[in-house]
Amino acid sequence: MAIIVQKFGGTSVANAEKIRRAAKRVIKTVENGYSVVVVASARGQQTDELIADALELNPNPPKREMDQLLSTGEQQSVSLFAMALDAMGYDAISLTGSQIRMMTDSAYTKARIKSIDTKRIHEQLDKGRIVIVAGFQGIDENENITTLGRGGSDTTAVALAAAMGAEECEIYTDVDGVYTTDPRIFKNAVKMDQISYDEMLEMASFGAGVMHPRAVEFGKKYDVKIHVRNSSNETKGTIITHEVPQMEGVVVSGATIQKDMAKISLVGVDNVPGNAAKIFACLANAKVVVSDIVQTEISTEKANVSFIISISDLTAAKEAVEQIKDEVNCESIFIREDIAEVSVIGVGMRTHYGVAEKMFGALANAQINIDSITTSEIRISCAVDKKQVEKALEAVCVAFELDKPAQERTKHN
Ligand code: ADP
Ligand code: ASP
Ligand code: MG
Repeated sequence: MAIIVQKFGGTSVANAEKIRRAAKRVIKTVENGYSVVVVASARGQQTDELIADALELNPNPPKREMDQLLSTGEQQSVSLFAMALDAMGYDAISLTGSQIRMMTDSAYTKARIKSIDTKRIHEQLDKGRIVIVAGFQGIDENENITTLGRGGSDTTAVALAAAMGAEECEIYTDVDGVYTTDPRIFKNAVKMDQISYDEMLEMASFGAGVMHPRAVEFGKKYDVKIHVRNSSNETKGTIITHEVPQMEGVVVSGATIQKDMAKISLVGVDNVPGNAAKIFACLANAKVVVSDIVQTEISTEKANVSFIISISDLTAAKEAVEQIKDEVNCESIFIREDIAEVSVIGVGMRTHYGVAEKMFGALANAQINIDSITTSEIRISCAVDKKQVEKALEAVCVAFELDKPAQERTKHN
């Protein structure tokens, strides 16, 4: 029997009524002849509440204990989901990350999946049961509970869909699909019918919280058709898929902002071979994820090295650079905690010019100063003052006509 994975995010299972509604959707899929594996997130804002509980007791809680705590949110929603299905006359079983041997590395709070044993899920599906898997969690080789990073239930779902050869992975959320930008920030954003894995990955990595970046990576690598859609209506959502030629006709497909960022600059580092390697080895050791690395030579003797990190890694990153500072002869360390990034993304950038000019022009017209600029083949990001980032997003959305469907935009936009 063909398998469909259906993932329900926090708002889609926030209370009994919403769990019942999600359960009905699962039943409909079962009645259409599919075996269904459900992945559920913690209910409503529960993960945030658990984090607040932890911080009340300890401002810097041990990460292992944090994962032990946070995994309980998903554990509650899967058992409640199974109970709802049982009450509707359907045989269901909930399973935690450890019960399906969702093996990860030991990077607590941002673990990466290494392998999944689907045997138990298959056995249960073969018995005609609906299997409800707790999202966001796994275990490391020592049976410690790990979590995959905020929003990580998407990754559980797509990884399971890949491992089980599912026909489709449906991501049920609280918006109708993937929009040109966050519709809660830019009201005129437009829903896309489809988006390429590469664009979605850049959007997710640079702030589009609608999908977890690792989920998109899994989708691309294992060819999983991902359908992002609204759990409270029947509208067709957005399909994340391989690139098709007409996608290149659109220069900018979407825009994002990322708020909780910090920028660290090591000023006046000795300009000799090996220093960049030493700095980033130290950060990697501290499990800090860095982006937007810029190294500039300021004289034959000295260079500046800067990079952007998530604010949640700031303490670890500060400790790491303090450790390496003397070894690379760094004159001073400069930290900006009020930084945010606005990015535009589109596979069409590979074949069109003038995107950078248009973006910088839009920011200039809005009187927004650009702190630093980084690019990939399909993305341009500008770091700006956090207080101005929403205004910056609006300016670029208007400039690239992200308030119109792609086919209605001026040519070359
Ligand atoms: P869930 O709990 O279902 O996983 P999330 O809050 O993680 O839901 O993701 C859905 C939210 O993502 C939306 O409510 C929306 O505000 C936000 N979002 C950010 N960027 C986008 C985008 N480009 N398209 C759609 N939603 C986006
Ligand atoms: N409950 C986790 C979070 O809030 C995981 C998820 O919802 O995907 O981040
Ligand atoms: Mg999410």
